[in-house]
Amino acid sequence: MGPLVASVYVGSAILCTAVAIYSWRNRVGRRVTATALAGVATGAGWWSVVAALEAGGASDGVVAVGSLAVYPGVGLLVLAFTVLARSVAVGDWSPSRRLLALLAVEPVLVTVAAATNPWHRLLYHGPGADGPATSELWEYGPAFWLHTAYSYGLLIVGMITLARGWWKAPQVFRRQHLSVLVGSLVPAGLNALSVFGALPGVAQPTPIGFAATGAIMAYAIFRQDLIAFAPVARALVVDRIGEYVLVISPDGRILDVNPAADRFVRSMNPEAPVTLLGASARSVLGGFDVSDLLGGGRDTDRVVEGRDRTVELQLSSSRLVDNRGVDLGVVLVGRDVTEANQQRRELAAANARLGEQLRTIEVLRADLAEQASRDPLTGLLNRRHLMVGLADAMAAALERGDPVAVLMVDVDHFKQVNDRWGHRAGDEALVSLARLLGDVAPDDALVGRWGGEEFLVVLPGTDTAGAAAVAETVRARCAQTCTQAPADAAARARTVSIGVAATRSPSAAPDMLVDAADSALYDAKHGGRNCVRVHPGLAADERRAASVPT
Ligand code: GH3
Ligand code: MG
Ligand code: MG
Repeated sequence: MGPLVASVYVGSAILCTAVAIYSWRNRVGRRVTATALAGVATGAGWWSVVAALEAGGASDGVVAVGSLAVYPGVGLLVLAFTVLARSVAVGDWSPSRRLLALLAVEPVLVTVAAATNPWHRLLYHGPGADGPATSELWEYGPAFWLHTAYSYGLLIVGMITLARGWWKAPQVFRRQHLSVLVGSLVPAGLNALSVFGALPGVAQPTPIGFAATGAIMAYAIFRQDLIAFAPVARALVVDRIGEYVLVISPDGRILDVNPAADRFVRSMNPEAPVTLLGASARSVLGGFDVSDLLGGGRDTDRVVEGRDRTVELQLSSSRLVDNRGVDLGVVLVGRDVTEANQQRRELAAANARLGEQLRTIEVLRADLAEQASRDPLTGLLNRRHLMVGLADAMAAALERGDPVAVLMVDVDHFKQVNDRWGHRAGDEALVSLARLLGDVAPDDALVGRWGGEEFLVVLPGTDTAGAAAVAETVRARCAQTCTQAPADAAARARTVSIGVAATRSPSAAPDMLVDAADSALYDAKHGGRNCVRVHPGLAADERRAASVPT
């Protein structure tokens, strides 16, 4: 049995050495965890060597020396395991110098006690304890029991730390945490088997157990890999972003929730349980149905009704699969776009209002322009716009080689209307003359009030004869009113005198044409009123133009 057990210890020592070297070489990115694991493996390896000597039948003296020399290894193992447990459980933790110094106290003391045992025999007493010649009959002293209690105490604390780390770990890291936890339980398990006599000949199951612990942890830490850096990365990325991140398992339970999502869920549902992890997503999210998102690979906008507010969310869902292809659920990432949407809507509304105002302004402006161009009494074009219209009409007609004519219309003895019937009656007479001019003039004519009781009619494309005909119609209808209207209206009615001028000359200016018509009007007044006169000069000019062979 001896050689077999000894070879198990040797194997354990070799395994520990391998783990220690491997961990030490892979410190980058996980310094504390890897160093602590190297420490655990070194301690367990040390212990295994001592146990191998004993089991392998080394001489009494060697075994006795080994029994004392094992303490630095055991102390290192306990110290390193305590640090390892905490660094695995708490992502980016590293021990302070103070803590390391404190943890080093007991190993140093027990090492000193072991080295000086023959003098005080606090660790071992009984026959042979005064020298390291043989350890066969040694009995345990108080220092041994203190050391044992301290060591098991710290190992238990370490295991509790690992168990809590596993319990609190986000779902995606749980497998790794569980591997480490199970690894840490192996020594306790072997000890239990040993107590029940299941390991005959194995006096020291603990170092073998820790060799297994080291190997399992090395696998979990370096091969499953995530522990060292993922919690840190997760803390940096997921915990700090403003987006809501929620991981939901295939059976609809919340696996992970970042602080932003936690706050959001609670603000929308004050009755949400204290711990969202593990709760049913449907019950926690209340009326907010995410069942259509559980398939992953979808982006959608959602309006969520909370207790006292409505939130607009932009949601994206993606399936979460671990590195072995196992379906872990779906990750929902949500962003509150209520404010952004509100701002966009307000901007659109402001734009619409602005557009509306611009249209109103345009209508008002057109109205004003129209009003500014009109004579308020008769509604006809005023003198300024009449001149603009005349200039445009002349430019267009003369360019085409068409004639342009104007009529200057003046009421005869209009002063008498005012004098006899009052100013209001005079105004009414002007309004009815304006209406008559509008009726008689062709559609493309411009009819305007030149001033006082004088009116100007612009006839584009009309020659002298045509214009004289229109003038004659106006004159005749006014004269007709004077004789045929009802008695009182007829008494107030007045005839009109009209001067006509027309031109085809491209060099003719609007002023010239108006002056010519005015001059013809003067002739009409002198010719006895109630008559039409054509300006001769421009008529001759027109005749000349007409006789030029084309
Ligand atoms: P004639 O045949 O020589 O043209 O005689 P007339 O009385 O028409 O002479 P005149 O041109 O000197 O008189 C024009 C009158 O028209 C003078 C003025 O009182 C009157 N008048 C000018 N504008 C208005 C107006 O807007 N309303 C009224 N009721 N009268 C006006
Ligand atoms: Mg006049
Ligand atoms: Mg007059």
